[in-house]
Amino acid sequence: MDLADLYRDVIVDHNRNPRNFGRLEHPSRAADGHNPLCGDRLHLELVLDGGRVADVRFDGKGCAISTASASLMTEAIKGKTLPEVEQLFGTVHDMLTRRDAPVPPELGKLAALSGVREFPARVKCASLCWHTLNAALAGDSAPVKTE
Ligand code: ZN
Repeated sequence: MDLADLYRDVIVDHNRNPRNFGRLEHPSRAADGHNPLCGDRLHLELVLDGGRVADVRFDGKGCAISTASASLMTEAIKGKTLPEVEQLFGTVHDMLTRRDAPVPPELGKLAALSGVREFPARVKCASLCWHTLNAALAGDSAPVKTE
């Protein structure tokens, strides 16, 4: 199995069985995202506790890339401090938008999304959840649009 197959399997798995899907009882932050180019819609909720992402859930309706990306993101950020989340956002953003950016090993399963940078129209599908996360962390209640 080559890397492309492995990456595809991760995306298929997270699209079919999204992790942290649903709503939280008492979120401390929430934001909505919309990618009109593809029709992806995302609602993200977080519980922040002591400067960490204590819990996170998402729901919504979107393509396989947007759903898998949100699922992978929630797994990656749970338990992380806000500076760690910010750093991860930068690394993921580079991976998605810079064709020559290296894919650092600490990205783990998030590396499965690196293939989208070959398809500029899908980059917004993969980055929607991250922009929505930023809005939630900033306490910005206006819906996020990717364009
Ligand atoms: Zn999409």
